[in-house]
This record gives sequence, structure tokens and C-alpha cells, in this order.
Amino acid sequence: MEIQPKQPTTEAPAEWFTGDVWVDAIVQGAEPSRVRVNTVRFSPGARTAWHSHVLGQTLYVVDGVGLAQSRNGEVIEIRPGDVISTPADEWHWHGATPTNFMTHLSITEGIGDGDRPEADWGEHVTDTEYSGR
Ligand code: MN
Repeated sequence: MEIQPKQPTTEAPAEWFTGDVWVDAIVQGAEPSRVRVNTVRFSPGARTAWHSHVLGQTLYVVDGVGLAQSRNGEVIEIRPGDVISTPADEWHWHGATPTNFMTHLSITEGIGDGDRPEADWGEHVTDTEYSGR
């Protein structure tokens, strides 16, 4: 075993996120493994854009209070210890509440040679959608 060299924290792109979101890569499995684990930290009010994952996604909330919603579903509150499973190709978003940070692990699988994105991205989540109205 070995302790992996620490990769620099990267800021999630404004194209796909609202607000300040920081990502640390934890696991990038070597072939044939395609597992990807990231720690994602959302500041209050920050969230992903609408998106779906080609092979689905599991979130594990480790800190704070967050919100998540599937297309046509209710906005739900997510808390530390919650495991949120999203099936392949289900459109959704996730992020912090307006008043708290939220940190989750994101567990996904890479696609093919790694050049193909594992997620499809759409519109930003509007303030109206975010507020659950
Ligand atoms: Mn997602």
C-alpha cells in the first residue's frame, strides 16, 4: 500500500455549477476499474446544474445540510450519513442549502477511454427551482 500524493483542489466550473464548489479527487481507478470518487464541497447556496450520469451516481453526505432533486420530484433535504442513489440517465441536481455548507462524496464510473464525459449537463438550477417553488 501507499499513501497517494495529494492532488490540488480544483474549483468546479461555473459552466456546470452555481456558486463556489470545490472538488478533491480521491479515487480514479486504474483499468479495468472505472470507479471515480470525489469529495465535493458546496458553499451555502451553491449547487450543480441539472445533469445526469451515464452510469448513475451514489452520493454520501459527510458534512453540513444539502438539497437534492430529481426531475419532476420534490426538493429533498440531505444530511450527513445519507446515501443518495441516482439511476443512470436520471436528471437531477444537488447542492448546499442557502444557509449551510454541504460536503458529499460522489461515486461514479468513468466511461470507455475516459475521453467521454460520465455526465450530461443541462441548464443551471434557477433560484425558483432551488427554493422548491
Ligand atoms: Mn449528480
